[in-house]
Amino acid sequence: MSDLRELYQQVILDHNRNPRNFKELPGAMRKVEGFNPLCGDHYTVFLNLDGDVIREVTFTGSGCAISKASASVMSSTVKGKSTEEANQLFDTFHSLVTGDTSTVDAGELGRLAAFSGVSEFPARVKCATLAWHTLRTALEGEQESITTE
Ligand code: ZN
Repeated sequence: MSDLRELYQQVILDHNRNPRNFKELPGAMRKVEGFNPLCGDHYTVFLNLDGDVIREVTFTGSGCAISKASASVMSSTVKGKSTEEANQLFDTFHSLVTGDTSTVDAGELGRLAAFSGVSEFPARVKCATLAWHTLRTALEGEQESITTE
């Protein structure tokens, strides 16, 4: 278990240091800001859709290691998925980080499983889910900014 934990730690550190898709997307179809005032995490998610399929997701902003790594893993995981698949993945991820693992299929999560340790730190759940909440808002296409409060 400690080996696994170390591996998970490495994934988070790597994505925090070298975040994937960390750039603006000029002319993006959707652009939504997400803010977690408890921690100060603040990101903008850019989204391009092709019909119902997520063509491209990028993000900019700053925050703690958990929030940045989560945004990075999110952006590389949902690319090419349908809106419905992305929403299902968020539900599974949310269950994982809130410790409700009864419905979680670890195989389905891939690198997202690296955030399982967050469930031991309830205050960090908002950090880990901020980018996902922001993505969901972007997929719904309703608002331009959200806050976790
Ligand atoms: Zn945070």
